[in-house]
Amino acid sequence: TTFDQLGLSQPVLQALDMKGYTTPTPIQQEAIPPVLEGRDLLGIAQTGTGKTAAFMLPSIDNLRKSDNRVPFKSCRMLVLAPTRELAGQIAQSAEDYGALAGLKVHSIVGGTSVNKDRNKLHKGTDILVATPGRLLDLIDQKAFNLAGLEILVLDEADQMLDLGFIHALRKIRDIAPKDRQTLFFSATMPSQIKELVSGYCKNPVQVSV
Ligand code: AMP
Repeated sequence: TTFDQLGLSQPVLQALDMKGYTTPTPIQQEAIPPVLEGRDLLGIAQTGTGKTAAFMLPSIDNLRKSDNRVPFKSCRMLVLAPTRELAGQIAQSAEDYGALAGLKVHSIVGGTSVNKDRNKLHKGTDILVATPGRLLDLIDQKAFNLAGLEILVLDEADQMLDLGFIHALRKIRDIAPKDRQTLFFSATMPSQIKELVSGYCKNPVQVSV
């Protein structure tokens, strides 16, 4: 299988070419076609499997297709991640893969200036990568909202629970628009994660690698 056969667009295929990726990993082969169709996804996968590209590549194409304007104080795609390090890596991937798609990418993590974050978010962005705690602070301060959200990704959900983000994740679930696409990733499936999945996803395609 090639990336081309999975249905990705030319700008995304060119970005992959520049990265030197020729063959999709198993999770990419299984996840990309249903995500391009708009399905919700439950991915049971560890780091190192290529899961970042598995959710980022088709999401970039879905954003290109819907072609909505960048929403004021909001984002079109939100990726929640447990740590600053992971959020930084995901934001870098979004920039690399989306280089030719013209999408604006920002990241918001704890431990940096909240005022800078407020300024960054004021005009809105296409793709936002965030840790849940800082994002919820900005939502509570009315510096950010989820009104423009089209795609929501939870990456390493089990790690987010271990770090005490369950309250933030429930709150974000409760205020996110219902007509969105959700891509949910976790390396393990304890009962608290299953409960979160059923609250976040609608009839998800399940991929396990
Ligand atoms: P991840 O599991 O998303 O953290 O990705 C693990 C590593 O594999 C990252 O360094 C990616 O840049 C790289 N990678 C992802 N997909 C591919 C691919 N199809 N071919 C080669 N490398 C890849």
